[in-house]
Amino acid sequence: MSSSVALRLPSIDGLLRHPACAPLAERYGRDSLLTGLRQLLDELRPGVLSGQLSAVEIGAEVLAGRVGERLARQQRSQVRRVFNLTGTVLHTNLGRALLPDEAIEAVQMAARYPLNLEFDLASGKRGDRDDLIEGLIRELTGAEAVTVVNNNAAAVLLTLNSLGARKEGIISRGELIEIGGAFRIPDIMARAGVRLHEVGTTNRTHARDYEAAIGPRSGLIMRVHASNYSIEGFTARVPTAELAALAHAHGLPLLEDLGSGSLLDLTRWGLPAEPTVRQALLDGADIVTFSGDKLLGGPQAGLIVGRKELIAKIKKNPLKRALRVDKLTLAALEAVLGLYRDPDRLAERLPSLRLLTRPQADICAQASRLQPLLAEILGSVWQVSAVEALGMIGSGSQPVARLPSAALCCRPQVSKRWRGRYLLNLEAALRALPIPVLGRIDDDALWLDLRQLDDEPAWLAQLPQLQVDR
Ligand SMILES: *Cc1c(COP(=O)(O)O)cnc(C)c1O
Repeated sequence: MSSSVALRLPSIDGLLRHPACAPLAERYGRDSLLTGLRQLLDELRPGVLSGQLSAVEIGAEVLAGRVGERLARQQRSQVRRVFNLTGTVLHTNLGRALLPDEAIEAVQMAARYPLNLEFDLASGKRGDRDDLIEGLIRELTGAEAVTVVNNNAAAVLLTLNSLGARKEGIISRGELIEIGGAFRIPDIMARAGVRLHEVGTTNRTHARDYEAAIGPRSGLIMRVHASNYSIEGFTARVPTAELAALAHAHGLPLLEDLGSGSLLDLTRWGLPAEPTVRQALLDGADIVTFSGDKLLGGPQAGLIVGRKELIAKIKKNPLKRALRVDKLTLAALEAVLGLYRDPDRLAERLPSLRLLTRPQADICAQASRLQPLLAEILGSVWQVSAVEALGMIGSGSQPVARLPSAALCCRPQVSKRWRGRYLLNLEAALRALPIPVLGRIDDDALWLDLRQLDDEPAWLAQLPQLQVDR
């Protein structure tokens, strides 16, 4: 009997007038609501015709609820905050350094108001955006001058093109590196118009190798910090001071791409030694390039520092205009550099350094505190333990050095053939949380390295929503 009464979808007009839809129109706009309702009804129509849907499933309240979820999803930003529990602090895919409050405030100011980006307030004349940070860079590195571009890859490209185009760039075979994201020194050199003249061998390059390469076509000598790999064992590398002396004796500039380029000696905080920009310049490098968002702890940028006349030449290159940084970056960079004036308080104020220097005991205590909570939510299929773990700096700094840390290690208590699937499901469930949680799978377990979990309340608050598929 009842099957003879065909179900019908509510009309669009009826739905729009329904009280459950009114707040949605208010929130997302009438046009978006209309589009959402049309799409939903189109999707449901076949189910209604074939009799698979019940009257309840196509009631106005239910449909309003479903459209509301759909609109909320669409409105959610594509740029999402995540928890980086991978163990890699300066994670390139997760945005590298986190800015300090001082820099965030500077960015807000620069975004909200007009500012003296290229305007000299003292003289009332046109200014140069690099001047905004030149004083600080001189003070912090001893460099004569600076120019800032989009990132360190741009810094290397621009420097090579400005100083070595149509000439030869001499570089050791041990330094022809590739960095993540397809940045390869030989390719960048070629694009910069510099002819690569490689010398020495992968593991050993001597001063005499460089010397033999120098000739009338030479334009510069380049040195690249090996960043993300290390050469161990039977190795030889010419010290920067000796290489600089050699370059200068032949009237060539020495460029040094430091990659991370620390402004201070990190060993004072117990971190592995990284070459500093000041030392490279003291050793005689004429131009040093480094990133703004690696160990420096600032915004994405490439800093080119060094001798005044060379910087002036680099700034005249038309490519500089194409690679320059925006006002938000400069505002953030100045604020971050300002913090370096007080090294004693730097580890408290600069988030990347605070995270890198967080004591292991602290992280272990946090792991012990959180272990029972996660264990309870995951249930008996998972063995959750608080264990010591090893993280890393990331972004090519000290590839072999490890940061002693602590992690929540989640092991599925199932037979070996199911483990992989359980781990991938847990990983997916963590990614599906309102603030996605990213860990790493290793040794048949999912590891959540807690070094970077400083917003524990937000992490805990969303944990009950975790839904792991079996
Ligand atoms: C990271 C790195 C780069 C690239 O720097 P970006 O700021 O990521 O463009 C270039 N050279 C070296 C040695 C690096 O470590």
